[in-house]
Amino acid sequence: MSSFLPFALPLLGEDEITEVTDTLRSGWLTTGPKTAQFEKDFGAFIGADYALAVNSATSGLHLALEAVGVGKGDKVITTTNTFTATAEVIRYLGADPILVDIDPKTFNIDPNEIRKIADKHENIKAIMPVHFAGQSCEMDAIREIANENNWKIVEDAAHALPTTWQGKMIGTLSDITVYSFYVTKTIATGEGGMIVSNNEDYIKRMKVMRLHGISRDAFDRYTSDKPAWFYEIIAPGYKYNMTDIAASLGIHQLKKAHAFQERREWMAKQYNEAFADLPATTPFVAHPDDMHAWHLYVLQLELESLTINRDQFIELMAEEKIGTSVHFIPLHLHPYWRDRYDFKPDDFPVALDVFNRAVSLPIYPKMTDDDVKRVIDTVTKILKVHTK
Ligand SMILES: *Cc1c(COP(=O)(O)O)cnc(C)c1O
Repeated sequence: MSSFLPFALPLLGEDEITEVTDTLRSGWLTTGPKTAQFEKDFGAFIGADYALAVNSATSGLHLALEAVGVGKGDKVITTTNTFTATAEVIRYLGADPILVDIDPKTFNIDPNEIRKIADKHENIKAIMPVHFAGQSCEMDAIREIANENNWKIVEDAAHALPTTWQGKMIGTLSDITVYSFYVTKTIATGEGGMIVSNNEDYIKRMKVMRLHGISRDAFDRYTSDKPAWFYEIIAPGYKYNMTDIAASLGIHQLKKAHAFQERREWMAKQYNEAFADLPATTPFVAHPDDMHAWHLYVLQLELESLTINRDQFIELMAEEKIGTSVHFIPLHLHPYWRDRYDFKPDDFPVALDVFNRAVSLPIYPKMTDDDVKRVIDTVTKILKVHTK
């Protein structure tokens, strides 16, 4: 009997372990030289002028919206097909999200739907595209609409390391972009995130707000020649800094980011070929020449041709000891968002239909070729047995 194959696992090597050990021996556990190194490496990797490490993508998105000036009474456009973190940070600032339906092929925010609502609301300040599964949103259309309406763009790139749009790296195309290094993401530090931007003013503000509204961070404080005890508070900031322990993982994970992407892309190709003739739709790739991070592999079940629904499929996979997941339960179905904005399930019909059919299969570099084959064989068996 084979063992349980989890839905996601990080791939950590000796380099990460040695770096963490070195950090522990150094005694500098919180934000210090390793974090500074990780920020430098990350900025270079993306090709962005500035990178700021934070303790999660959620905190990075919060800082980003604060920096571009989102506040009480403002509105921010985003997709219903995302994790609640994208929208909750809008509420942290006393603003409200305007949810938008998705493109039925890519599951990314639909620019046509954005156009439809652009004139219907006052006080829209920003738009937050989410590069679902690691496939870029239509950034040209989004940029055009944002420019016409004078909105800022803050990208949720939690899935999108590394991802390109028409050959350009995500992270170089908008006001601010935020990445996640949560344990299941494309590179992992356990908890962690990174903000990138080419705008020095935004970076200065986020750097201050990242650590209590202090005008210089602890690292500068202890290495500058000004008296070590002196600092000034210029705003009621947050506690969002990254630890050097997490950065130690990040430094080495980042070096493998392209190799990890290639491995996930290879797995996606195996899945696509194997599932081509089954009653299921494999993920659509909008621009095959662009880099897709393949953080997720979302299969759409053709329920019309099956005797089982998505939930039963997941149970059957679990009986075969294969972990799966669903991305996402659309925000407008969750009690908080539903009740606050009085949403009905079919307010966003595309996202609802995609949700009912969606199942995310394991896709991560720690999987062996045999693991990939096992997923293929199991999915094939279950779908064949339950075809009408
Ligand atoms: C994981 C995720 C986040 C939050 O990332 P954290 O680093 O856990 O805060 C935000 N948005 C999306 C789309 C995610 O998948």
